[in-house]
Amino acid sequence: MRHDILGAGEVGGSHSENLGMYLDMHAHLDKYEAEIADVIGEIKANRILTVSVSMDPQAYLKSKELDSRCEWVVSTFGIHPWNAPAYHADLHVLDELIAQSPMVGEIGLDYHFITDPVQHEAQRHVFRYFVQKGVAQDKILNIHSKGAEADVNTILGDLSVRRAILHWYSGPIDTLQELAEKGFYFSLGVEMLSDPHIQLVARTVSAELLLTETDNPGGYKWLTGTTIGTPALIRSVVAKLSDLRGWRHEQTKHQILENFWRLVADDRWARRYKAEMEV
Ligand SMILES: [Zn+2]
Repeated sequence: MRHDILGAGEVGGSHSENLGMYLDMHAHLDKYEAEIADVIGEIKANRILTVSVSMDPQAYLKSKELDSRCEWVVSTFGIHPWNAPAYHADLHVLDELIAQSPMVGEIGLDYHFITDPVQHEAQRHVFRYFVQKGVAQDKILNIHSKGAEADVNTILGDLSVRRAILHWYSGPIDTLQELAEKGFYFSLGVEMLSDPHIQLVARTVSAELLLTETDNPGGYKWLTGTTIGTPALIRSVVAKLSDLRGWRHEQTKHQILENFWRLVADDRWARRYKAEMEV
């Protein structure tokens, strides 16, 4: 399944100005507590462009405070599918936060951890609302799809979504291929370290659609039962992805950043980051 656009040794090449950065496309910085000063220090020291998604308005407002404290952080607003029932009756109160947010997320559907069909109905209602707003405002969507990949795929198609990222995709490979045909990106993270199916996903996604993430701080703890993740975990993610693809670490970093800048090429908000970081 290695029919990607990369010839061996071709990645990286002359664009060495980009080599010193990582991308964490999906973290929840609002969930850090006393550690946050160290977390910001670690992001800066490792040069990690970090998209801090949110699960509710409080999380977004907390995360947004970090944007001004750290030039490497981009905070985005969404209602996580687990929180959909609390918001689905009055979504218009969220319009202002959606309008402010540079991207939309975390949004999506979850039929794996949530099994109540009444909640699924609320999830679909909230998800469709955010997707419609995102399309109208031409914003990238950051999507959770656990156990609901087929419905996510259908809704994104029905609503003519142009730009989306499937976060921690763990669904069937045929649905992955349908999503990839629509041009959507896949951000791969910590479960790639241990899970054969996620490793298959990492080998299957074509090179130009790959992104990286940590889902910090909870993703690693959920997976390992040990400690919370900190930003430098992205190094392990890139190292594992490099192993799986047969790329050098720096090639992988370069490919991920090239993909990210292509994805955000039409976004005015991204210009500041590109200007500051591509030096
Ligand atoms: Zn998340």
